[in-house]
Parts: sequence; structure tokens; C-alpha cells
Amino acid sequence: MKKEECPLCNPCDELVVAKTEKFRIIKVPDVNFPGYFRLIWNKHVKEMSDLSVQDRHSLMDALCSIEEIMIEELKPTKINLAEFGTMVPHLHWHLIARYEDDPNFPDSYWSAKKRTTDKAILADREKAAQKCAIRIANLFS
Ligand SMILES: [Zn+2]
Repeated sequence: MKKEECPLCNPCDELVVAKTEKFRIIKVPDVNFPGYFRLIWNKHVKEMSDLSVQDRHSLMDALCSIEEIMIEELKPTKINLAEFGTMVPHLHWHLIARYEDDPNFPDSYWSAKKRTTDKAILADREKAAQKCAIRIANLFS
């Protein structure tokens, strides 16, 4: 995929929570998964091994810091950290708060939906996710 065709090089509707010289963090708008953030490397690189050793470390540190905030605010059953890039080969990581009552648990976020989460619970999680977003913004400002 060329840079010109890459949706992460040419974003149109991102909810950017924080941005640094190297990467940005967005909140993914999914009503069923309020605690879903994505770390996107700013430069069009495909693999983790394309990064310098220092950049690999700073990326991992950032992921762990975001994960800690998500655990504190969202109190998930588990955090999913995932990097694929098979459809969009531009380095990005998914950070997803998972719960036993989420639509796909314990299967992956991308698998078939098997239940509906209570609306009041989702509203509480959205509030917690907003707190996460503020803390993430402060962390990288
Ligand atoms: Zn790209």
C-alpha cells in the first residue's frame, strides 16, 4: 500500500487524544467498546522491526502507560494489545478493554458478536473512557 492510499497517512475522521512527534493516540468510536484506543505511528512504516531500537522502546513504554491508565479507570477483565496491519500495513496498535459481558468475550474483538452489553454499563464505561482520554492527553502533553 502506497502512502497516498493509506488511511492512516490520510486520516479523515480521527478522534485524536494525544499526539507526539513520533505517534498519536486516538479513541476508536465503537459504542459497544468504549475503552478502545489506538496508537498510530506517524510515519508510514510497516513493521515493529522498521523502528530504531529507541523508538521500539518508547512505543512499548507508551503502550504500557496507556494500559495502566485503562486498567485504573476502566477496570477491565483484560486489556487486549494487538498489532496486525494485514489490512492497513501502517504500524498501529489496538488497546481494547475487555469484559466478560462485552459482545464477543472471550473471543477476539473482531469475531462474531454473541451478546449485547447493558446500556447503563456501557454509559459508565464511556465516562471512564473519557477520563482515560484526559489522562492520556496529559501524559503526552
Ligand atoms: Zn500510512
